[in-house]
Amino acid sequence: MNVLKFGGTSVGSVENIKQVIGILENYSKTEPLICVVSAVGGITNKLLKAGELAQNKNESYLSEFKDIKSIHLNILSELISSQDTTSKEYLETKLQALKSLLDGIYLINELSPKTTDKLLSFGELLSSYIITEALKERGNSVMRKNSQELIVTDSNFTKAEVNFNLTNTNILSYFADAKQSITILPGFISKSEGGEQTTLGRGGSDFTAAIIAAALRVNRLEIWTDVSGMYTANPKLVKQAYPIKNLSYQEAMELSHFGAKVLYPPTVQPVLDYNIPIHIKNTMVPEASGTIISNDYTNGKTTVARGISHIDNMSLLTLQGNGMVGIPGFSKRLFETLAQEKINVILITQASSEHSICFGIANVDTIKAEKAINATFENEISLHKIDPIIIEHDLAVIALVGDNMKNHQGISGRLFSALGKNNINIRAIAQGASEKNISTVIAQKDVKKALNTIHERFFEEQNKQLNVFITGVGNVGERLIEQIKQQKKYLKEHLKINLRVIGLSNSRKMIFDDSGLSLKTWNVDLDNGESASLEAFFEHVKTFNLRNSIFVDVTANESVAKMYTNYLKESIAVVACNKIACSSDMENYNNLKLLSRKYNAPFLFETNVGAGLPIIDTLNNLIASGDEVTSIQAVLSGSLNFVFNNFNDKTKFHDVVKQAQLEGYTEPDPRIDLSGVDVARKILILARESGTDMNLDDIENKSFLTKANLESDSVDKFYQTLIDDEAHFQKLYASAQSKDCQLKYVAEFNNGKAQVGLKEIPQGHPFYNLEGKDNIVMFYTQRYPEQPMIIKGAGAGADVTASGLFADIIRIGTN
Ligand code: ADP
Ligand code: ASP
Ligand code: MG
Repeated sequence: MNVLKFGGTSVGSVENIKQVIGILENYSKTEPLICVVSAVGGITNKLLKAGELAQNKNESYLSEFKDIKSIHLNILSELISSQDTTSKEYLETKLQALKSLLDGIYLINELSPKTTDKLLSFGELLSSYIITEALKERGNSVMRKNSQELIVTDSNFTKAEVNFNLTNTNILSYFADAKQSITILPGFISKSEGGEQTTLGRGGSDFTAAIIAAALRVNRLEIWTDVSGMYTANPKLVKQAYPIKNLSYQEAMELSHFGAKVLYPPTVQPVLDYNIPIHIKNTMVPEASGTIISNDYTNGKTTVARGISHIDNMSLLTLQGNGMVGIPGFSKRLFETLAQEKINVILITQASSEHSICFGIANVDTIKAEKAINATFENEISLHKIDPIIIEHDLAVIALVGDNMKNHQGISGRLFSALGKNNINIRAIAQGASEKNISTVIAQKDVKKALNTIHERFFEEQNKQLNVFITGVGNVGERLIEQIKQQKKYLKEHLKINLRVIGLSNSRKMIFDDSGLSLKTWNVDLDNGESASLEAFFEHVKTFNLRNSIFVDVTANESVAKMYTNYLKESIAVVACNKIACSSDMENYNNLKLLSRKYNAPFLFETNVGAGLPIIDTLNNLIASGDEVTSIQAVLSGSLNFVFNNFNDKTKFHDVVKQAQLEGYTEPDPRIDLSGVDVARKILILARESGTDMNLDDIENKSFLTKANLESDSVDKFYQTLIDDEAHFQKLYASAQSKDCQLKYVAEFNNGKAQVGLKEIPQGHPFYNLEGKDNIVMFYTQRYPEQPMIIKGAGAGADVTASGLFADIIRIGTN
């Protein structure tokens, strides 16, 4: 014989009840079975709400009642043929009794725990009746037995304790004579020894089923619900969670005690005593294998950590004071006080100095707890031996569970570092000596992020999700999105990186989708987005609170650069091709580096120098491995290289500059390139990354432009002065030609000093043949004293810059 329990969703609609009937009929072909049912989904809550409204003299309890009535009558009418009026009449009589009870509550405006249980019992009594009638009509051999006649409890209303002796005797004697193939029992409800209606606590139908299963020593207890088993984490909050095939009783108990609602915590104990396996199955997907909870399972090849669960809305209370040290009995008095008030303690930690005890309880219990504890310790508090109890609200506890964690080192380390990396502050830690469970207390607002972070760390070892927010979708930004779109599949398959673009913004609009924006329609979607602002964009990123968040700055804008500190402080990584931050004053640069270290948030800007060329990364590797840079010689401006490679006595300087701009090789304002400022910023960044303190003013900039060029106050005027001063540029060209030299705009860093300027480069020099928009950097270091390390290649262009940004993003994913 088996016991099957169907939860609220399983009996929540006509369609689902038909599914349940199908499962029962199928099973009952081979052996008799017992079926425990919950109230129709949502009804227990509605009954409670109606009761509370009535108690508060609010007449809308009547409309709540109407709702309850019509839900049941509708289900009945769809399941039972219209000729059968007796079942409808029976149901209406029961509903009338419910209405009378609610009217009574309204009249005396009181809803005691005792009346609450009477009220809530209607849910299971009604659902079990309807299902029995439906099965009867289809010709099944079925009987309903009221669990209130079997399960005997104490009078602790709303969560009564079972008297197993009396209960087991009742169950055995009833089933000894039962002849029907299917027995339907309402879950959750019971009666006290004195005959008053009681309940087993919210979610208690699972427990009813376990009590019956244990009393009858059945082969198996099946819990049929709306998910395909017990998952590695709550599937509503962690999309990547998956059903756990096997669990030990202890693991299931820990997970359910710490919030895995799929199984009511007391359910395990009765069946554990007789080694009866619990099978959790999905009513809507009966073919799914579900979860088997038993003793026969060995941890074998599965992961050491088996699941994560969490409890929302808790508070942490701390009792502390010098008067506690070394004096026994404080904990005893404290926990006795809590027990007297029937306050459930979720977790306890005690500092080794005994100077403080810290424990977690539900938010709703805090006022009661505060009063009671302060009263118990009134004397000590008045003598300043201990402080009044300290309360922190809005916390949650997250538990990582697994029988075998004790045999493995470093589990807590991994857990804490994963949380730390994502800026999730741990308020308290509790780890049982058995080490089946490591619990951490964190802020309520961080729960989703923490669950996903821990899940990724322990259950998706291979996969890492990167959540990207891009500001600036001009040439480079657009190419970046295109490259991400193209590479998404590759990244997933080869690097196990799941890259999603969550937010996008240009200067006018911004869009977000925390499940990932469409990279096909982003253009149109962005046009229809909300108005953009840098602060609002940041607030969105912060509120999403997603793990591995990366802010990508694809602008050349100073205000965007000023936002980096905000992001880093939230442990959000920053990737930038914008050079402004790294070439701003030294204090700001140092501060950004400091924040990056402090908050564990990468700050990467490889594309600041040489677009996609691996210049900064190489430099960082040289320094990290103990090398020292003595000199840097470089051509760092793709645009200036393009200009001087194309300029000669047959072209016009103005036309060549214009062409460079049109082809996207210059900054939006070409003066930034031609004045040498852009190159100066780049050598400044390289000097800083080499370990030298330097500011932009310290760099000698020998401009090749005329006074008129330099003084022009708009891009248009600047272009006009280029036309006017053509002779000046031709002179520069002729001088180089006469010496068989090429003009190159060179940046140098020697002995802590840097300079930029136009140079005549003789034949044979590595810069001489530098083509198109290429860049070249020569690092002279202690390890490369004569033959420099040379990095050379395309140093400008949207595609290579985008790929440099992309490489930085991936670097974060693979670290
Ligand atoms: P029933 O009404 O069938 O008793 P419950 O709502 O009590 O169903 O329990 C099932 C729900 O438990 C799921 O829909 C899911 O949202 C929640 N849940 C929380 N944690 C877990 C978990 N680790 N695995 C599966 N479900 C979980
Ligand atoms: N109907 C009850 C509740 O909602 C019991 C149960 O569903 O297990 O809490
Ligand atoms: Mg349940």
